[in-house]
Amino acid sequence: MSANCIFCKIVRGEIPSGKVYEDDELLAFKDINPARPVHVLVIPKRHVESLAHVTDADAPVLGRMLAVANRIAVEQGSPDGFRIIINTGRIGNQEVPHLHLHIVGGPEPVGPML
Ligand code: 5GP
Ligand code: ZN
Repeated sequence: MSANCIFCKIVRGEIPSGKVYEDDELLAFKDINPARPVHVLVIPKRHVESLAHVTDADAPVLGRMLAVANRIAVEQGSPDGFRIIINTGRIGNQEVPHLHLHIVGGPEPVGPML
């Protein structure tokens, strides 16, 4: 846990979030500023700064983040596909320094990536 990390505060329940999924090691909640009708963030509860900070030991939790994201996308209204985004570091425009993946989707195509 990181005391001042906004996503760690969400994990601890200190900041409200639109939680859509939780288990022992993962939490998923709606993005506060959705870019599309479906925009959900999936995070590990354990503070990891970014994808650039993971090791082989994190592979199981990373795999579970993707598997859970697939289920959430369908449940939240993106049954015909979705996009997963992991912004990483300064070059990747990562704003929140706690590893997270974005699920972006909805009933219509999300458009070109760049
Ligand atoms: P990134 O770090 O990948 O650029 O994006 C961080 C995302 O977190 C943004 O899409 C932003 O809207 C979202 N976000 C930032 N603060 C909060 C918050 O307090 N609650 C929720 N639900 N989303 C947040
Ligand atoms: Zn954190």
